[in-house]
Amino acid sequence: MKRVNGPDYDVIIVGGGMVGACLAHALCPVGLSVCLVEAVPPKADHQPSFDDRSLALSISSRQILTALGLWDDVVTAATPIQRIHVSDQHRPGMVRLTAREMGVEALGHVLSARHLGRALLKNLQQSVQAFICPAGVVAIDNRADSVTVTIAADSGEQVLNSRLLVLADGSRSRTREMCHFERIDKAYGQTAIVSNVLTELSHQNTAFERFTAHGPLALLPAGPDRMAMVFTVNSADAQVYLDMNDDAFVAEVQRQFGRRLGRLHSPGKRSSYEIALQHVKHQYRDRALLLGNSAHTLHPNAAQGFNLALRDVAGLAEVLAAAAVAGADPGGLATLQRYNDLRRSDQQRVLRFTDGLARLFYTTNPCLTVARNSGLLLAGLAPALRRRIMRLGAGLGARLHRVPG
Ligand SMILES: Cc1cc2nc3c(=O)[nH]c(=O)nc-3n(C[C@H](O)[C@H](O)[C@H](O)COP(=O)(O)OP(=O)(O)OC[C@H]3O[C@@H](n4cnc5c(N)ncnc54)[C@H](O)[C@@H]3O)c2cc1C
Repeated sequence: MKRVNGPDYDVIIVGGGMVGACLAHALCPVGLSVCLVEAVPPKADHQPSFDDRSLALSISSRQILTALGLWDDVVTAATPIQRIHVSDQHRPGMVRLTAREMGVEALGHVLSARHLGRALLKNLQQSVQAFICPAGVVAIDNRADSVTVTIAADSGEQVLNSRLLVLADGSRSRTREMCHFERIDKAYGQTAIVSNVLTELSHQNTAFERFTAHGPLALLPAGPDRMAMVFTVNSADAQVYLDMNDDAFVAEVQRQFGRRLGRLHSPGKRSSYEIALQHVKHQYRDRALLLGNSAHTLHPNAAQGFNLALRDVAGLAEVLAAAAVAGADPGGLATLQRYNDLRRSDQQRVLRFTDGLARLFYTTNPCLTVARNSGLLLAGLAPALRRRIMRLGAGLGARLHRVPG
């Protein structure tokens, strides 16, 4: 195979999914030379990041996407969330949150990953020095003053040098293993089944999260009369739900959800995702930094994964912009430590929140069951507690980073 030495970059990003592509946009005004390497062409049916799943975007994500100049491209495809309704099947207690109570225009927005992908890819070629796709990483050589990445592309192998290597190639990141990051895994034994459904009654821009014996069932407003669905089930039962005909599947969802939205009907295509918690002991070493799902893959119960990663993107862009102004090394230890210090507490807080929620709602432990029910009741009754939960979900608990512009 032909092998050539490519140019040198300040930053190489491996993985041009939601998170890697957002970082490429965020670094555009910083003045660093950026190369983005992505394995799967954007328009391929099997592009794993920009699929049909619906994302609940928090208020902080909207602010960041606006600062990146991307919000105008997605706003018409995004459905605002005016109310959130959280309940527990067969048990008392519920929480209702409203945009009015929070004094905001919307509590968040629902947007399909596919729409986000289109907006991200539209101007990507202009944002980066090189977008190499399809290409995979064959070898990584971390040195004291640079990192060398060998990639295999259609044209042959290329050897690229960079001062910083950002690994944003998802939860099954191969480059994370190549760089010897220590991973911590926790299997939940659950699978998320994603689909959508039409409703007899108007959803009135309400996002529903219902905790059932199987796991959470989320119905998110996605367009005027459609709800996007994330139905979490025990992995052992997942295939049964995937194999059911549409009528049987929608009847099962109706049984779990109840009749708040009248009759549910006309379900869309189903796809499934194995759920696990994954994180790392250290998110940087030897000029390599993990970002997005490769750094932390969370339970989707609170719709936090991408929202958190987007705040990481904003934080990293802020740190790299400051390093560029100071003439500091973007992959140097001091720069990566600064990023770590800036982001660690938000990451840990969200990880604890989603993992705690997962444990609280799938327990048979009577003490935890009482805690859960009284928690929902208390939050239902106490506006201050409700607002705290809301601020956390909206991504407003942490300091918002200054996205370079
Ligand atoms: C069912 C479900 C619902 C969710 N809902 C929400 C939600 O409502 N809100 C929210 O905030 N988050 C949500 N999430 C989480 C969100 O999907 C993730 O946070 C997000 O996908 C992470 O993006 P990423 O770019 O890090 O990884 P990915 O989306 O996995 O992208 C990785 C990219 O890297 C590429 N790649 C892989 N290997 C290589 C390689 N060797 N070389 C080059 N490229 C490579 C892949 O092709 C891909 O494009 C949900 C997740 C699930 C499973």
